[in-house]
Amino acid sequence: MKIYNSMTRQKEEFIPADGKNVKMYACGITVYDLSHIGHARQAIVYSMIADYLRYRGYNVRYVRNYTDVDDKIIKRANELGKNALDFSKEQIKETEIDMENLHVSKADVFAKASENIQNIIDFVQELINKGHAYVAENGDVYFDVRSFPSYGKLSNRNVDDMKNGVRIEIEPWKRDPIDFALWKSAKPGEISWDSPWGQGRPGWHIECSAMILNNLGETIDIHGGGKDLIFPHHENEIAQSESLTGKTLAKYWSHCGLIKINGEKMSKSLGNSLTIRDALEKYNYEVIKYVMFSKHYTSDIDLLDNDFNLAENHMYYFYNSIGNMLEYIKNNKNENITSIRKDDISEDIIPDFIKYMDDDFNTAGALANLHSIFKYVNNIMKQTKQDTIVENANTLQNILNKIREAYGVLGLFNQEPKIFVHELKKKYLKKLDLDEDFIEEQVKRRTKAKEEKNYELADKIRNDLDEKGIILMDSKTGTNWNIKSLFNLQI
Ligand SMILES: [Zn+2]
Repeated sequence: MKIYNSMTRQKEEFIPADGKNVKMYACGITVYDLSHIGHARQAIVYSMIADYLRYRGYNVRYVRNYTDVDDKIIKRANELGKNALDFSKEQIKETEIDMENLHVSKADVFAKASENIQNIIDFVQELINKGHAYVAENGDVYFDVRSFPSYGKLSNRNVDDMKNGVRIEIEPWKRDPIDFALWKSAKPGEISWDSPWGQGRPGWHIECSAMILNNLGETIDIHGGGKDLIFPHHENEIAQSESLTGKTLAKYWSHCGLIKINGEKMSKSLGNSLTIRDALEKYNYEVIKYVMFSKHYTSDIDLLDNDFNLAENHMYYFYNSIGNMLEYIKNNKNENITSIRKDDISEDIIPDFIKYMDDDFNTAGALANLHSIFKYVNNIMKQTKQDTIVENANTLQNILNKIREAYGVLGLFNQEPKIFVHELKKKYLKKLDLDEDFIEEQVKRRTKAKEEKNYELADKIRNDLDEKGIILMDSKTGTNWNIKSLFNLQI
C-alpha cells in the first residue's frame, strides 16, 4: 500500500512502526462557529483512511482533537456574553450532530485542549527544562525555534528566510521574532488556568503535541490535517514534540486539499461559506461524499453547484441500477440453479477497488470504476433471452454483494435504493415545477389514447412532457417516466 508523505514529497510504501497496529492523528476543528464543508472534507477523508486501513486488516487507533480554547472562541463567546468553555461545548455538540448526519465514522478518541491542560503544562515545563523554551517577562512561554535545527523541514523553509520574508508582529519580549507561544499569560476577561508561570492558557500548537503524546505515544504512523496547517502549525508540532522526545513525531505526514467555492477561498466575510448544515439541507449525504471522493484527497476542490448536480446524476444512476438489480434478482432467482454467467465480473470488483485504494487512497479511480461495473450490469438486465435469466440473476447478486462490500468502506450505498431514487426524483420535479400526480395522469391519458389508436394525441402528450423535461420509456410492462436532467447518464 502506498501513501503520499508530505515530508518526503513522494508516495511511499506504507509500513507502520508496529506491524498491523496503526497510530493515526488528525488535527480537528477550532469550534467557534458552525462547521463548513471544508471541515467536512477533512473529517470524511481521515475517517475514510482509517476505515480503509481497518478493511485491509490494520488495527487503527485514530485520534482527533477539538480546539476548544483559542482567541477566536474567546472573542466570539465574549460577544455573545457566554463563558468560553460553555460556548465551545455547544459548538462541539453542533459539529457532532453535523458529522453524524453526514455519516462520518467516528474517531476512537476526540481529545479536547481544555481537558488536557495538565498534560500541556507538563509538556511545556519539560521543554523549558531541556532548554527549548523560555518564560518571557510578560508571563508568556515561547518555543525557542533556533534550538531546533531542523525547523522548517516539513514546509521546506529556512529559518533565516522566514525572518526576512514574513512580516512578524513585533513582540519585544521574544528572544527571536520567529519564536512561537506555548503558553499565553491571561488577559482580563479571558479564560485561564493556574500554571508555574502564572495564570494563562495554552497556545494553539502545543495541544496537538501534548494530546498525541498522551493518547498515542512518541511516534505515530500517520499525522493528518488540512494543507493550510503545514506552516506554521505542523512545523511547530514537530519542533515541540521532537525536541521533547528526540524521536520522529510522525512517519507519514498527510495533507488533505482545501475547498474553494466558485474559485474563491471560503470565508464568512465573502459570504460564500457553505456550512455542513446548509449542504445537507440541499444534498443527500452520500452525494456530498461522492463529490469529496471524486477528487483525490490531496487536491484542492473548487466547488461549483454543478459538481453537486453531477454527483446527483451519478448517484441516481447507481442507485437506480441497484434498485433494478434487486428487482431483477427477486423476479428471476431460482434457488436450485447456482450457475453464473461466463463473463461474470464480480470477482474483479474487490481486487480493482483495492488496487485503486492501495494507491494512496485513490477514491476517484475507485468511483470511476463503478461506471464500467454498472454499464455491464445494465447490459445484462437489457437482455431478454429467457434461458440465461437465472444465470444473470445469480451474477447480479454476486456483483451487488461485492459492490456493497467494497464501496461500503467509503460509506456509499447504505440507503434503500427505492427511497433514494424517489427522493431525488421529487427534488428534481420541484425544480421543474412539476408533480408526480400530474405526470402519472398524463401517462394514463397517453396509454388510453394509444388504446384508442389516437396516436396523434399520444405523441402530443409525449412531446409536451418531453418539453417539460420528462422522458417516457415504453416497455412490455407499461410506461415508465423519468427526469431528463437526472437520467442523462442512462440514455
Ligand atoms: Zn494539530
